[in-house]
Amino acid sequence: MFEHLKPQPEDKIMALMQQYRADPRENKIDLGVGVYKDATGNTPVMRAVKEAEKQLWEIETTKAYTGLAGDPAFGRALSGLVLGDTVPDDRLAYAAQPGGTGAIHQALELVKMATPEATIWVSAPTWPNHPSIIRHLKLAIAEYRYFDDETRGVDFAGMMEDLAGVKPGDVVLLHGCCHNPTGANLTLPQWDEVATLIGEKGATPFIDIAYQGFGDGLEADAAGTRLICERLPGALIAASCSKNFGVYRERTGLLMAVTPDAKSRGVTQANLTHLNRQNFSFPPDHGARLVMMILENEALRAEWTAELEEIRTGMLGLRTQLAEALRARSGSDRFGFIAQHRGMFSRLGATPEQVEHIREKHGIYMIGDSRMNIAGLNSKTVDLLADAIIDAGV
Ligand code: PMP
Repeated sequence: MFEHLKPQPEDKIMALMQQYRADPRENKIDLGVGVYKDATGNTPVMRAVKEAEKQLWEIETTKAYTGLAGDPAFGRALSGLVLGDTVPDDRLAYAAQPGGTGAIHQALELVKMATPEATIWVSAPTWPNHPSIIRHLKLAIAEYRYFDDETRGVDFAGMMEDLAGVKPGDVVLLHGCCHNPTGANLTLPQWDEVATLIGEKGATPFIDIAYQGFGDGLEADAAGTRLICERLPGALIAASCSKNFGVYRERTGLLMAVTPDAKSRGVTQANLTHLNRQNFSFPPDHGARLVMMILENEALRAEWTAELEEIRTGMLGLRTQLAEALRARSGSDRFGFIAQHRGMFSRLGATPEQVEHIREKHGIYMIGDSRMNIAGLNSKTVDLLADAIIDAGV
């Protein structure tokens, strides 16, 4: 059989990281892979996670299987963090997943079981794993305009124009906050307009929320998702704990389905559980248990929230500093968008040649589409990046 396998395309981000590691320059800067890094370049285990792990070691008496949809207490805790009290329990189905990626994959499998003819609408651009999973599952895909190359903000008029082509039963994939790869996000009134359009079209919103707490704060970052859930009868939500709890390798995520009524909640829950059974039986539990312990314990939750705020405000500070450094060097406000963007990423809007120049001449690695991971900077390297951006003629 093996002779029938075809080579897979190289993962561009992984290839860039290898190139970075092989670069002997001491002052090289990694703005590539989407992992949070502190000022020393470390991806720390968060304080509350460490403490929860210590407690768990003391109290955990078994590693026997949990439920097929994971421990319901995890689902309750994380859905509470994301949705607040916008969705009544009898309209909410959920199942724990291996990371946000697992949740996205499972959501799309659910769509395929329900409406295999549905088209999945994704933003242009989006996280490359979205189209890749959609194609892997042989679902139809369409793009809507999202990023305005001129303003480096959201091309909202273009987005609404393209979404006018959505058909009943289609699925519209939206980033809950901190859009990857652009950093440009919808305002709340824009979320409202999108909700109206999706409702009028009879489509289903599918929200990928992987950076709650990295943008404007835990509540503000969930506001768009909550608005959609309040306004529309049904929604799919894929939540990841990789970034905001820093538990990347533990593979911790949750797929939530908001259903129109209690009856469809039951069927949906049974389908989510069935899909887990087919794909991996029981979802990973360690990260989920830590997240649940943190969210349910007042002291741990306060510690976690405080550290998440430090991370968030640290990145915002770097954004302001970089925008200022570029204003000083360019004598213009044209880089102001960097301070407006939210989350870990900003799309600089540089050409592939300029990205290459910045990498070759200055040893600064960003993704080919000019996505920069702001968390890869610190207060000292901001100026180096600003110099390189100006030198490349961006
Ligand atoms: N969605 C988006 C937009 C992401 O950027 C990521 C992480 N890169 C994920 C989902 C999922 O991450 P994970 O599977 O590691 O939880």
